Amino acid sequence: MENAKLKINLKALYNNARFLLEETGGGVIATVKNNGYNFGLDRVVNVFYNAGIRSFATTSIKEAIQIRELYENVCVIMLNPCNNFDTLRKYKISSSIANLDWIKKHKDDMQGISWHLEWAGFMRRSGCKTESEFMETLEFAKKNNISIDGIWTHFSWADEFDENNTYEKEKENWLAIQKKACNKYNFKYIHAQNSASFCRDGKLPEHSHVRVGIILYGCPGYEGWDYKGKIQHALELSAEVISVNKMLEGESIGYCSSFIANENTCDKEDNISYVAVINLGYGDGLLRKRAVGHEVEINSKRYPLVSLMMSHTVALVDKNINVGDKVYFYKDTIPVFEFTYKGVGANSEQISALNFNSLDVEYID
Ligand SMILES: *Cc1c(COP(=O)(O)O)cnc(C)c1O
Repeated sequence: MENAKLKINLKALYNNARFLLEETGGGVIATVKNNGYNFGLDRVVNVFYNAGIRSFATTSIKEAIQIRELYENVCVIMLNPCNNFDTLRKYKISSSIANLDWIKKHKDDMQGISWHLEWAGFMRRSGCKTESEFMETLEFAKKNNISIDGIWTHFSWADEFDENNTYEKEKENWLAIQKKACNKYNFKYIHAQNSASFCRDGKLPEHSHVRVGIILYGCPGYEGWDYKGKIQHALELSAEVISVNKMLEGESIGYCSSFIANENTCDKEDNISYVAVINLGYGDGLLRKRAVGHEVEINSKRYPLVSLMMSHTVALVDKNINVGDKVYFYKDTIPVFEFTYKGVGANSEQISALNFNSLDVEYID
């Protein structure tokens, strides 16, 4: 019996990075937060660097330092406001200015660091909330010799299409602010777009970079975006059939009879339900929502999962399935984003859960 396995195709990540660099004239900030979307920070930074990306963004100071220790000649952007000023200086990490109060409070500590000013927009996690606050912060920085090299925002509605077209509204607000600021000051970095926004609009005019994550890791920005020939799915999660059980109507399997054979699940000829026990469960990082009610692929055919345990799942199969058959939970023909569209959770949510310690992990260069 083979252990459950996670195969990561780094070549796909490389090709995705190349595609994005070409589409943006080289303007890509790779978002590598949370251990490079769980693919492994060092590995993804290396792959993206080799493809030609020279700017990286994360939300943790620990990861920002890790990126700097890999490469001297890249821009490392810490997206969350951070007041470890000595660390930012020492590792040449660019960081975000939270708002006007924040810059006023910290002005004496901020020299010798490259800053990016954030527009809160509808996200409202941090950043300036009004145009006057944004412009006043830029003015204040100039007077106090604090260098603001970039301005940015994060759209809160890029991934969703709502009746009110909220994305168009927040984009319009941002473009007005961005124009106003650019008329008065020069910035090396102007970045606003995540994957969905890039897929909708391409790189926005006057913007230096897109700041994308999930599309680099092989998932389209939104449902309906034609990714074929552009973006490659990058991971394969597989396991094995370790037993095939024949169940009569009324018999159950799993904790608390989590599945009971019934007339709909039984083969019409022999009145038996064939269920395959598979050696992968939630302990390996399979989300509960991804399991029961959704499918796996065995011998190029889809079968529904009917039960989930810590290290096992159960699929309702047929006579053609045998012990030792390979079971795919994710691969290019059964991609992560299919389940995002079916409401299982964000692409990154499904990927982040995968357990690199329990799975056999193989990287393909
Ligand atoms: C995660 C993140 C991104 C990347 O978003 P994707 O949807 O994965 O492309 C961009 N900007 C910020 C601020 C983020 O937190």
